[in-house]
Amino acid sequence: NREWHLASRPVGWPKPEDFALVEAELKQPGPGQVLVRNKHLSVDPYMRGRMSAAKSYAAPYELGKAMQGGAVGEVVASNSADVAVGDHVLHSFGWREYATFDAKHAVKVDPQAAPLTTYLGVLGMTGLTAYAGLLRTAAFKEGDVVFVSGAAGAVGSQVGQLAKLKGASRVIGSAGSDEKVELLVKEYGFDAAFNYKNGSVSEQLRKAAPDGIDVYFDNVGGDHLEAAVGSLNLHGRIAVCGMISVYNNTEPAPGPKNLARLIATRGRIEGFLVGDHYDLQPQFVEEVGPWVASGDLKYRETVVEGIENTLEAFLGVLRGDNTGKMIVTL
Ligand code: NDP
Repeated sequence: NREWHLASRPVGWPKPEDFALVEAELKQPGPGQVLVRNKHLSVDPYMRGRMSAAKSYAAPYELGKAMQGGAVGEVVASNSADVAVGDHVLHSFGWREYATFDAKHAVKVDPQAAPLTTYLGVLGMTGLTAYAGLLRTAAFKEGDVVFVSGAAGAVGSQVGQLAKLKGASRVIGSAGSDEKVELLVKEYGFDAAFNYKNGSVSEQLRKAAPDGIDVYFDNVGGDHLEAAVGSLNLHGRIAVCGMISVYNNTEPAPGPKNLARLIATRGRIEGFLVGDHYDLQPQFVEEVGPWVASGDLKYRETVVEGIENTLEAFLGVLRGDNTGKMIVTL
């Protein structure tokens, strides 16, 4: 039973020495508890924040203890009347092969209804993030021109396709490779896309959205945010989901230089956390589930195998190795 510990708090880009894969005792479940063999682990950008000591919305990982994260697995022992051996559950004790925890923290999932990995991605946390951020925070409405960054990633690819399915007049995405850009247009149906590494984001966005944008779904921050403010239309909305371009910075990044534009446009910029929007979960599953099943909403997963490669998979997300949700399969 191996689990990943945080050995020291990374400064800048996390280094392998900041982590340790350790052999841990397999704890049998106590009263009301279950023992779960994890099958798929989630690695997500927000975990970088939990590696720092700074207080934030999610508690910092403790040094010398197993890290946490989304996971799905099979119950192999149970002392709970609610969860049976053989059930599959979604829970937050990832970064390890086996997890022993109170059954009340387990959410049963059906492997017949959808592949297990989708409960971590397109039908899980990242899916709900896209749904809540676009529909609620950005107050998307039919006819909007939508720009999303990180568009080939888990959240971004779903934002763009949801906007199309819900009647956006134009959807533009940015991503970090020409292959990803091609995928956005050819497979996901974006109207335009560009590689942010190929030139100025502002210039590329202006070309892709000559009539401006009504919604910007920000996964990246930095020059993407500045470009979006620069292209914002009257009553435009910016939903700040993530700012992955600054997660490894050691100094606070400068903000957009053109925020005064929000006055003329009566623009709105608002951050959100998926954790505040779980009331939308039933509506999300009801609406998006059939689109995923029918293939109207496409998704990719990048799967890395083996508990020993979990750290590399996490670093890969920060580097952009992934297309769609990054998953570690054990
Ligand atoms: P992704 O699947 O999008 O993976 C992250 C992607 O970010 C990489 O694939 C990479 O793609 C891109 N990236 C990395 N560095 C940079 C950079 N410097 N500039 C631009 N792009 C970069 O991850 P998720 O879909 O899980 O998360 C997307 C965003 O949403 C993150 O910012 C995350 O923190 C945030 N988030 C927020 C939540 C909330 O509740 N607010 C919940 C879940 C996620 P590329 O090759 O294109 O560079």
